[in-house]
Amino acid sequence: MNKSKTFALVVHGGAGARPNRDYTAALKKLHEILEGIGAELESGAAALDAVTRAVTIMEDSALYTAGRGSAPNSDGFVELDASIMEGSAQNAGAIAAVRAVKNPVLAARAVLEKTDHVLLAGRGAESFLRGANIDFIDDPDSYFQRAEPDDGRVHGTVGAVARDTHGNLAAATSTGGIFRKLAGRVGDSPIPGAGVWADKNIAVSCTGHGEYFLRTAAAHNIAALKQYKDLSLKDAMDTFLTTQLKPLGGDGGAIAVDEHNNIAANFTGFGMKYGYITNQLQPTTNLQDAYV
Ligand code: ASP
Repeated sequence: MNKSKTFALVVHGGAGARPNRDYTAALKKLHEILEGIGAELESGAAALDAVTRAVTIMEDSALYTAGRGSAPNSDGFVELDASIMEGSAQNAGAIAAVRAVKNPVLAARAVLEKTDHVLLAGRGAESFLRGANIDFIDDPDSYFQRAEPDDGRVHGTVGAVARDTHGNLAAATSTGGIFRKLAGRVGDSPIPGAGVWADKNIAVSCTGHGEYFLRTAAAHNIAALKQYKDLSLKDAMDTFLTTQLKPLGGDGGAIAVDEHNNIAANFTGFGMKYGYITNQLQPTTNLQDAYV
């Protein structure tokens, strides 16, 4: 295997940021993740493990609309979606509309590693996950922070993409979805090709109004623009946002890394909480400027 010291990690804590909100804690947490997991990647950690760890920390923090910070649906309870995908063999695992699982990204990884399936949903997913020793919350009412619509976490899916020193790419996305979504509603986050994608050339995690990301096959569309039109990573992402997402009226953004260790992050609207580290770039977080 071709080993080099080249690595990259990009994380997001969701698009849909709004003016006059204080995102200091959310950005600080991203910075800590970049420092900690960046060091692990530098020491040779696998991209799949890096994105798993990054998303697990964000889920546990209650600072984003994922894991503990998830918002309730129209029936007043939390339903969680998550996905993980690795680029070398295009293996993926995902869960959708699962209740009371502590770390949805670990549940998605269990589907990837312990089943022949890609996506498990609802009650069947829950019974598989209990058998796979995935942690569940005993008292969802006190565990979940139940974000209210005006507290700045309404839109706050989390995601991570990484390239490791072995050249492997991986992506993960986790969400509690959109505030007051209908019970049973599943967004783009657990769908490979929409909210997540990884192959040998690119890893992508999306965030935004999921219906538009489903309708545009967002994550794979970015991959296809790069691959088949021979666009740079940044141009592929920008082309997708400006020519496909925006004209439909969709809002949101994406992060990505490619096989050459290029990174990209861009969004429509006011802002997206995100950050990056590479073997050449110090940990950096941002809210309002796209990474170029
Ligand atoms: N894409 C997520 C969903 O629609 C929400 C988000 O990214 O904030 O479920």
